[in-house]
Formats: sequence, structure tokens, C-alpha cells
Amino acid sequence: MTFHLRGTVLPDGAVRDLWLLGDRITFDRPTGAADTVTIADGGFLLPGLVDAHTHPGADDKSGRPEFVPELFAEQIAAHRESGTTALRFPGLAGEVPSALRDAPDSPRMITAGRWLAWAGLSKSAVFHTVTDDLVAAAVTEAKAHDGWCKLMGDWDFEAAPVPYELLRAVVDGVHATGGRVAVHCQSAEGVLSAARAGVDSIEHGMGMPEQCVALMAAHGTAYVPTLTAFAHSAPRRIEDNARDRLWRAGHRTMIRRVREAYDAGVTVLAGTDSAPFGNVATEVEHLIAAGLPAEAAVGAASWTARAFLGLSGLTEGGLADVTVYDADPRLEPGTLRHPRRIVLRGRVVR
Ligand SMILES: [Zn+2]
Repeated sequence: MTFHLRGTVLPDGAVRDLWLLGDRITFDRPTGAADTVTIADGGFLLPGLVDAHTHPGADDKSGRPEFVPELFAEQIAAHRESGTTALRFPGLAGEVPSALRDAPDSPRMITAGRWLAWAGLSKSAVFHTVTDDLVAAAVTEAKAHDGWCKLMGDWDFEAAPVPYELLRAVVDGVHATGGRVAVHCQSAEGVLSAARAGVDSIEHGMGMPEQCVALMAAHGTAYVPTLTAFAHSAPRRIEDNARDRLWRAGHRTMIRRVREAYDAGVTVLAGTDSAPFGNVATEVEHLIAAGLPAEAAVGAASWTARAFLGLSGLTEGGLADVTVYDADPRLEPGTLRHPRRIVLRGRVVR
């Protein structure tokens, strides 16, 4: 069976006919396809949503995240049912079971292995995978996964971040093997160190000094602020102590830097870093509230993220991931919560 869709294709905005041949898209009507079924006629077509920062499958009731395959399956199903066709995991509590990774209804997954914490970082980072040799561990994780590794660039506000020279050695080592480096950072010093070292993505970036924007633009570093998680946590940091003051001020700084980064040409991506899973539409709304143009915010959770992760959009020969919405999400971002049609890997989910 050949599936056919017609609608306004984003981001270019042209009304087109698409046919799905297995897991591929073509704009040319296949010849002799008698069993063609039209599954969408009208509406707005995206290559699905992307959550670039999510950690499904972690049960942390014990205080240390344990990977539970059943929980992982449940949470990626929630992503799929919301129209999220691709996921990046910047740190997972365990390995994705191959049966789940290869399942025809699983969103496409970009994994980065476990969270890596340098042994010199601080004692409270010990629930991550702690290593003395951060360079070797980062190269190993990137090679063993989808080219990505994830490290903690800092942890406690009170403690020093990973030293710049060490972070730079990680970036050089991982880049030499064709991999990429995602770095959690939240203190001003930690974010500056990551931006100077030319990491591939800065996650959170709370308290980011202004000069980081130009550094990210120069190095091609993406910014994944995960505003959804901070919109939840910042209002709960109400104490009049140094940590809570830093948290609240850092949240305001992140919001400011989102727009500045976009204006400087930095790739800003949508990541939720929080439950409920399948909630990246909320991150789009936070990015718009932070001043990102709506089209850029929708792209941050769709075509821009796919391009950054090496996944095609709605192009000739592209992967057959398509979501269809009644309204134009660039004008009504809330429509992203209500996909009329979800197609993943050429199969109709809904
Ligand atoms: Zn995270």
C-alpha cells in the first residue's frame, strides 16, 4: 500500500503532494500504484516533532536513576502518541534494548550513553557515571552510541566546574573520532568554559554570561535551554539563600539568552528534560515567550532539530515521518498538541 498526503509542507510553506514508499518520501506520483490511500488532504505537514533533551526509562526512586525497560517503552510511546518522531537522549540510565530501538513504531533515537561526571567535579555528582579519565570515557560513549556523549560540565554552584583544559581535551578527542559532545552546565563559570571549549550543545546554560552567545555562534554550538524544566523548578526556589537566588536569576538569564543566541545565529533546540513525556509543544511555547519567532520555535522542535541530528525533513527521498495539523503551527503553536495524523517510519500511528 502507498500512502498519499496533500497539504502545506513546512518550513517552505508550499502546498504539495507526498507519497510514502516504505520509509521514504517522494514528491513524484508513483506509477502503477493502484493501492494508493490518501491519508491527509489539507492541513499543515511537519516531519514530526523532536524532543532533543529527554531521559525516558529512569526510575530514580532510590536516589540513583535505574533503567527500567518497561518504563522506557511507556515513555517513548507517550512521545510517539504526541507526534514526536525523533528523540535525543543526552544521558540515559542504561542501554536502549535493541528490540525497542528497532521496533517499527519507535521514534528515531539519538543516544549519548550514560551521563559522565569527572571525578574531580564534586561529591554530589556521584549518581552519574564517575570517571577519572573523562577524555577516554567520552570517546568510548560516543563511539558506542550515536556519535554523542554527555558530560556534566558542572554540578554544585559552590564547586568549580570541569577545568577548561580538560573540557577542551574531551572536545578534541571526541571530534577526532567524528563524535559530538553535549554538556550540562548551569553555573556562569561552567557555561563559559563549555562555550570556550566549543562543545556541540550546551544543555540548560542557566546563568550564561553574555559573551557565551558569540562563542556559541563562532563554534557552531547549539543551545538547548530546557525552559520547560526550569519553568517548573524556578518558582519553587523561593528561599532567600544563595542557591535559590542564583536559580531564579539564572532562569531569567536563560530566557534572555535564548533570543540573543537566536539573533546571533546559534541553533536553538527544544528539549523538555521533564515529565510528562510527549510534551515538547510546551517547550515551543516557552521559546516563543522567551522571544523566539514562532517559526524558529516550531523548527526548534521539528525540522531544525532533525537537521542538527542528521535526520531529513520533508524532502525528496527523506525519511517517512510526517505529522499533520489542522492549523498553521507558526500562527497557532497550540495546534502542535493535536496532530490529526501521525506517520512514523512510513507507518500510520494515527
Ligand atoms: Zn537532562
